[in-house]
Amino acid sequence: MTFTEFNLSPRIAAGVDALGYQEPTPIQEQAIPPIMAGRDVMGLAQTGTGKTAAFALPILQRLEAGPRGRVRALVIAPTRELAEQIHQSFRDLGQQTGLHSVAIYGGVSLGPQLQALRRGPEIVVACPGRLLDHIRQGTVNLSPVEVLVVDEADRMFDMGFLPDVRRIIQAVPGRQQTLMFSATMPDDIRALSADVLKNPLTVQIGHAAPAETVSHALYPVAQNLKTALLIDLLQGTETHAVLIFTRTKHRTKRLAEQLQRAGFRTASIQGNLGQNQRQSALDGFRSGKYDILVATDIAARGIDVTGISHVINYDMPDTADAYTHRIGRTGRAERTGEAYTLVTAEDADTVRAVERVLGSKIERRFLPEFDYHAAGSTFEREPRDPRERQSRPNAGRGSYAPRSRQPSRDPGRTGQVRPERRSQAIV
Ligand code: AMP
Repeated sequence: MTFTEFNLSPRIAAGVDALGYQEPTPIQEQAIPPIMAGRDVMGLAQTGTGKTAAFALPILQRLEAGPRGRVRALVIAPTRELAEQIHQSFRDLGQQTGLHSVAIYGGVSLGPQLQALRRGPEIVVACPGRLLDHIRQGTVNLSPVEVLVVDEADRMFDMGFLPDVRRIIQAVPGRQQTLMFSATMPDDIRALSADVLKNPLTVQIGHAAPAETVSHALYPVAQNLKTALLIDLLQGTETHAVLIFTRTKHRTKRLAEQLQRAGFRTASIQGNLGQNQRQSALDGFRSGKYDILVATDIAARGIDVTGISHVINYDMPDTADAYTHRIGRTGRAERTGEAYTLVTAEDADTVRAVERVLGSKIERRFLPEFDYHAAGSTFEREPRDPRERQSRPNAGRGSYAPRSRQPSRDPGRTGQVRPERRSQAIV
């Protein structure tokens, strides 16, 4: 299928060309025609599938005709990064249309947003809290809104935004079309969609989508040796840009510090950061100033960085869905990527759930030179025989000491970590 089959206007087709999109992704193929026909759609798809253009293109097509200078499309998104990205997509795809979009989110001063709203944008992309402020203060008029999009509805629910989202939906009673996107369908989202969508068409893009271009590997290791193993793994692997997930804000911060000390150019993002720090970490990761970004799930949601070669789960996510979300950041748009997960014995249930979703067993890998038996280790394969333990060079040393903590770098890129030594096990 090609984009020409959607009969997009020449100005919008020019935006598609400018972004270099050759053919529609599966969600675009399935969702664009019904959205263009005016139907309400429930899209079950995660970030990385091309869902933004799936709603942005039909919205631009609708708005190209009709009045200008009033808000006719409203997109609600859970995070500032996602709101910025959606706003950017509207700008890029609609660059020839003369339509205007504005991004509205908290954590930054009101002034520029007020000015942008006064200029009369046709599209508003907003996070719920700040948008409600504008609604209450009467600084945005949503009564002309024709199309409402609720993006990443499940994440909105996770972050406790659903009451705000419902309030916003009440503020756009005159809308003609509502679109909702969510990677998963928890009960609350099912209830919300039943309340706000009229005779919706459900479009689902299966979990297998990222798996086709991503290869997966598990690295069994004791909890207390994770950082040492990770450093060994990073030193022995050729990477481009690496996104590492941890379970908590505290672990994100601590791990980033440990990696910095080990010589890796590392930034981190977690919920406690201010908007400026967060933006500079993201910008630095995008530009290649940092090779590694350590993040929590929520902070990383919506990050759209191209060229991530590796997603590493320092901590196994809680659910198979969360796993799929995380690894959706690599292997995008026909690039290949690797998803590594450090697993402990406690992760066995989630590993099984992920393997069920992927439909195959994930390869277990061991680093041949890594000391899995360092003192204090609770690794399940630890030898029981004390004589065997004594024969190991690092046994009883108290901590793992990698051979080299200073990765050498390729000066050419943009954040490439070059190994000094390559482990045989990592191909
Ligand atoms: P999204 O799921 O909307 O966050 O999109 C994920 C990435 O895929 C973004 O970098 C988009 O620019 C890119 N993308 C969207 N549609 C296409 C397409 N048809 N062909 C190639 N890349 C695309």
